[in-house]
Amino acid sequence: MFNKFPFLVFVLGFVTIFSSSVYGDTNFPQLKVLPWNGHKAATSLTFDDNDPIHLDFVIPELNRRKLHATFFIIANKVDRKDEWRQAIKAGHELGNHTLDHLHATALTPKEENSQVVGAQNVLQKEFGVPFYSFAYPFSEAPPTFKSWVEKTSFIARGGAPEMTSPDQKNFDWFNIPAKVTMTEYPFETYKGWIDEDLMYGDWLVWMIHGVEGTPWGWQPVPKKIFLQVLDYLQSKDIWVGTFTEIGAYLRAQKAFEAGTSKLTGTEALYTWVIPEHCPPNVTLKVILPKGSSSIELWQKGEKVLADAQGNYPILFNVGELTLRQK
Ligand SMILES: [Zn+2]
Repeated sequence: MFNKFPFLVFVLGFVTIFSSSVYGDTNFPQLKVLPWNGHKAATSLTFDDNDPIHLDFVIPELNRRKLHATFFIIANKVDRKDEWRQAIKAGHELGNHTLDHLHATALTPKEENSQVVGAQNVLQKEFGVPFYSFAYPFSEAPPTFKSWVEKTSFIARGGAPEMTSPDQKNFDWFNIPAKVTMTEYPFETYKGWIDEDLMYGDWLVWMIHGVEGTPWGWQPVPKKIFLQVLDYLQSKDIWVGTFTEIGAYLRAQKAFEAGTSKLTGTEALYTWVIPEHCPPNVTLKVILPKGSSSIELWQKGEKVLADAQGNYPILFNVGELTLRQK
């Protein structure tokens, strides 16, 4: 039997040598997720405060380039709703940026609830789609306020000016770092961010407020520089996706890699835990290790076929995967 199962032999051998786990109830570390959907790095452009310039200039420029971004909406201050609905139809994401954009530290528990959960309900009703992401006004995330966000959202953007590495040990899914654009920054500053993102294979999240021409937006970025950034991103092997799209891939990757397998006869059933509020239809690109060509992957009673690059598209939301000998 073992000659037919070099892959499982390796797993069992590993377990026998390095741990006292029982046969048939062991970790299954061989499946690896391809970072960033097969790109060198990832980036998410996020825009705050439903600034009219986002509708008038940013979204048309993104649409022309087939790029998708995330717009954090202040529920009580949003107008031109039909145009925001059009943005959703075009593939952009709207996120929760509270009801009134107040300082979180000044809120009573009741106000915290209405600013986070209340806003979520208002926005979802208004736009008719689920909201997965949240951004803290003024990047203020005190613990009690944050706990409402954790109950309501899938992922949240904070304000630490860093990038997220898929290899880091811990993730705070409700305080993902983001770099803030400023009027006086030259293009070279942003080029430096993108180059660093590519060099380390990280996830760069942008926190953008105004763009030149805004009636009231904070720190407007000159239009020319903004377009240079878009062009530079498009010239690189970088995954440009909405905050939730890329965040869901990374979070799903981590949940998948923390999964466990159960060997029963000639099969291994691999299962993982799906996080709360996870968006639907998250597909991970999974690599089968060398020497496992006799293994087939099955989900929902169907064989998973490799794509043109030899990666296996795994439906994360299914929560399980069967490994079977050919
Ligand atoms: Zn804001």
